[in-house]
Amino acid sequence: MASTDLLIPAALLEDVVNRIFLATGCSQTEARRIATHLLGANLAGHDSHGVVRVPRYVEWQEEGFVLAGQQASIIADGGAFVLLDGHYGFGQTVAKQATDLAIERALANGSCIMGLRNAGHIGRVGDYAEMAIAAGLISVHFVNVAGSVLVAPFGGTERRFSTAPFCVGVPLPEGPVLLDFATSFVAEGKVLVASNGGKALPEGALIEPDGRLSSDPHTLYGPYESVGPRNPSLGAGAIRAFGEHKGSGLAMMCELLAGALTGGGTSGPVGARGRITNGMFSMFFSPQHFGDLATFHATAREYVAWVKGCAPASADMPVLVPGEPEAARRADRLKNGVPLPAETWANIAATAHRLNVTVPNQL
Ligand code: NAD
Repeated sequence: MASTDLLIPAALLEDVVNRIFLATGCSQTEARRIATHLLGANLAGHDSHGVVRVPRYVEWQEEGFVLAGQQASIIADGGAFVLLDGHYGFGQTVAKQATDLAIERALANGSCIMGLRNAGHIGRVGDYAEMAIAAGLISVHFVNVAGSVLVAPFGGTERRFSTAPFCVGVPLPEGPVLLDFATSFVAEGKVLVASNGGKALPEGALIEPDGRLSSDPHTLYGPYESVGPRNPSLGAGAIRAFGEHKGSGLAMMCELLAGALTGGGTSGPVGARGRITNGMFSMFFSPQHFGDLATFHATAREYVAWVKGCAPASADMPVLVPGEPEAARRADRLKNGVPLPAETWANIAATAHRLNVTVPNQL
C-alpha cells in the first residue's frame, strides 16, 4: 500500500458504486452487478479492473457507447455451441447472461462453446471463470477488445492488438486453479492505475514510437492532469505484448477467435469503429462427463502440491499456482479494506457529486 492510499471498507465502496449506477439509470439488478463485479476485481487485487473504471463507465453510458438494460440475444445455436450478441449492454450484465446460458448447457451436455460479441467492457474475465468453477466446470476464455488498439506486436512499435485477455479456470476440491491475464505486458487499467498515482509500471511495459522502452504512463496517454480523464488516443506509444513472440501470438489468437469469429470485430484497423466492445470466445466443460472425477481430482491434487513444493528461487517468495494471489488478497481486503489511491477516490467522488450521489466526507 502506497503512503497516499486510502483504506476503504469493501461494503462502503460497493455501496457508493451501486448508487452511482442507480443514478445513471441502471436497474437495481444491473447497478448491483456492476458494483459487485468492480469491487470483486479490487478484492482479487486487480485494481486495474476495479472501481477505478467507474468514471469511464459513466462517461461511456452518457455518450451512449454502453447501454443499460440490455439482454444478450442468440444469433446462432447448435446446442453444443451458441453465439450471442450483447447489443452494447454493460458487459457485467450481458457476459453474465451468456455465461449463465453456457453453464446450463455444459452441465446438461458435458460441454458448450459460447461466443459473445458486442458486449460492453466485461471487466475481470476471471469473474466468468469463477461462475463456471462454482458450477463445477472447467472453462477457457479468449477475449478481445474490438475497436481498442493499444498493444504493439512482437518486433513492432505501432499499436495492433487490444490487451486481449486469456483465462482458464479449473475447479478442484482444495480450491480452484485460475489463470487470468491480459496478453499485453500489463493490462491498460494498470497504466490507468499508475497514472493515478498507484503502483508503478514494470520497466519496459511500454514502447515509444522510436523503439525506446518506457514505464511512463504518458507514453500511452500523452499529457494529462493528476485528477481527470485519461485518453489512450492521445499518447504516441504502445503497450508491449507479454512473452515476446509467444504472448504476441496468443494475443493474435484472441483477436481471431473472440473478434473475427464471433463477428464482433477485431482491435483494428484504427478508426474503424466508434465504440469499444469486448468479444469473448469460451469453452465450458464438465470434468465428470470426461471421465472419472475422483481420478482427475487425485491426479490434479498431487500435481498442484508437487508444483507448489518446488524449491523457491527466493526464500521469501514461495511457488504459487494461478489463483492463489487473488484468493489471499481477497481474504485480506475483505478483512482490512480496499487500498485505493487518493486520486482514484477523488475521481469517483467527483463523478458521484456530478450525479447528486452522496459520498462519505470522512473515510
Ligand atoms: P496479472 O499480470 O496480474 O496476472 C494475473 C495472473 O497471474 C493470475 O492468474 C494470477 O493468479 C497469476 N499470478 C500472479 N502472480 C503469480 C505467482 N507469483 N505465481 C503464480 N501465478 C501468479 O494480470 P493482468 O494481465 O494485469 O490482468 C488483470 C486483469 O485484467 C485480469 O483479470 C484480466 O481478465 C483483466 N483484463 C480485462 C480486459 C477486458 O477487456 N475486459 C482486458 C485486459 C485485461
